[in-house]
Amino acid sequence: MGAAVAAGAARAMAGEHELVIRNVQALINGTFAPRDLAIAGGRIAAVAPAGTLTGARVLERPGLHASPGWVDLHCHYVDWKHRKSAGSSIAQLGLGEGVTALVDTGTVGAANYERLEQAVADAPRPAPECFALLNIQREGIKLSEFYRTKVGWDDFPAMEKVIAAHRDRIVGLKYRADHQVSDPKDRLYYVRKIREAGDAFKLPVMIHIGDPPPSLVEVLPYLKAGDIVTHFLRPANNAIVDEAGKLRPEVKQAYDRGVKFDVGHGMGSYSFFTAQAALEEGFTDFTISSDLYIASRPLYAKTFANVLTNVLVCGMPLADIMERASTRPAKFLGLQREIKEGAEATLTLFSVDNGAFTCTDVKGNKRASDRRIIPWWTIFKGQEISAGARDRKLYL
Ligand SMILES: [Zn+2]
Repeated sequence: MGAAVAAGAARAMAGEHELVIRNVQALINGTFAPRDLAIAGGRIAAVAPAGTLTGARVLERPGLHASPGWVDLHCHYVDWKHRKSAGSSIAQLGLGEGVTALVDTGTVGAANYERLEQAVADAPRPAPECFALLNIQREGIKLSEFYRTKVGWDDFPAMEKVIAAHRDRIVGLKYRADHQVSDPKDRLYYVRKIREAGDAFKLPVMIHIGDPPPSLVEVLPYLKAGDIVTHFLRPANNAIVDEAGKLRPEVKQAYDRGVKFDVGHGMGSYSFFTAQAALEEGFTDFTISSDLYIASRPLYAKTFANVLTNVLVCGMPLADIMERASTRPAKFLGLQREIKEGAEATLTLFSVDNGAFTCTDVKGNKRASDRRIIPWWTIFKGQEISAGARDRKLYL
């Protein structure tokens, strides 16, 4: 037995844990409560009353909160260094920002999917869990061809091959339904195609709604239970609410048959007016994602935490926000994100700072906030990683 192992055994006998997060507001069953959390062997070894556990290493700071590990259901991580795709790097989006799982949403299609595998292989370790939605268009999102439409890009045999080879990573299909990439002569062509592909490959589909055509209302009938509408808090035009802030009946119908709604903040898709109206209409059952990528990251939200602060300023309770940024998107991916004894120790430790902050939506509207969310540490499968500290200027 080595000295380190012997020391560990001695500590365990003395009731001391490998790692303890002390006096933390921990999100358990939808409510924050003061607790100590012990981490050992990659698991949450103990959840105990605050101030009762001792550890060889202790993480503690005033106002510290623990959420199940954040999960970003909509971002783009196929790296810019490939020069032909739109993503930020996994290192910029992931564990250093408190985010423990990333879904690249359609940066690549069947013809260039290997770029995504390369980005994952190149990511510094430890890396967050990485998933993908395969773009129905053969080459996904290429900045150089962003505005061009080529009907016939959907290639089912090629898609089938890629999906079969990467069933563990590809969790669905993606299509960007807006005027930039819809066929002017047949604006619902790809919407029909993604429906066909989703059924053929038995995968959920995510549709991006943007500037029409096609409109949100035209797209919704093609979506089934488990499919996702992303950018659902985008500004008018083509918003889920009308000019008076009332939820469109077609949106409610889609919701009632099990269609999911996702934020996808990005550079064009988060409006305080729409968000506020949705919350006031009781339309609160959604996932919160960033849509961070090469263009949106420096200019708009910058970090996943800022996206959460932008929802906080619209009045959603903190516990509800964290659940929509962790447990709920994790469920879509088949991951466990939960704070309880025996669960995988994948957590985001963050503070809620008090002060005078300014939140900005994608239209440049400002809102004063007296709180902001900042990640301090990520615990990923038991491993401690410092978060957020690299560049405080990135936060609101
Ligand atoms: Zn996107």
